[in-house]
Amino acid sequence: MQKQVKISQTVTYLEDKLEKIEVRLNCLLKGEHYQDFQGSPFDVSPWQCETCKVDPELHRKNNGKWICICPRCSKEAIGKDRWESILRWNRENCSLRTLEDIPFQALHKDCPGQVENIIIYLCDYYYLKKKQVGLSRQIAQMRGVRPPGKKYQKRLTAFYHWALLAKDLQKNKENDGSYKKEKESYRTT
Ligand SMILES: [Zn+2]
Repeated sequence: MQKQVKISQTVTYLEDKLEKIEVRLNCLLKGEHYQDFQGSPFDVSPWQCETCKVDPELHRKNNGKWICICPRCSKEAIGKDRWESILRWNRENCSLRTLEDIPFQALHKDCPGQVENIIIYLCDYYYLKKKQVGLSRQIAQMRGVRPPGKKYQKRLTAFYHWALLAKDLQKNKENDGSYKKEKESYRTT
């Protein structure tokens, strides 16, 4: 098969996926005000290792990825960027933290019963948005045009990690601190 035909079939397939994502985005409840975030999503400090109560160390590996690692028990989290390794690390070490540590402003309002829905919204919204931008970029690349929004895609990914962190913290709270993560990977693809 000619290369051109193959490319156009792939583009059609990606466009179809993109359309489905956009339908799901349109079905989400209107929660733009939940996205209010104080500061930059990339600006994150690592929390202490929840087992050893010491600060982790951050290194850049030979392959360019970042690793956040406890100098005592060697627990680690890896990410493409520094902030990604830290946000992953914090998810593994959040049992002593609360939603106060998450800069989404909507999570700090005093409206019991609402917080869970806000977190579900944030996880769904950022998951779909980053997929949407990712697919648009893929389609642009296949068409040989300059793909837009690499930085924007990173921001969406960072916000998605923050939303997942909020979800873990909410679970801790529901389980009165006794909750131990069952290594759930909430749609990490
Ligand atoms: Zn440790």
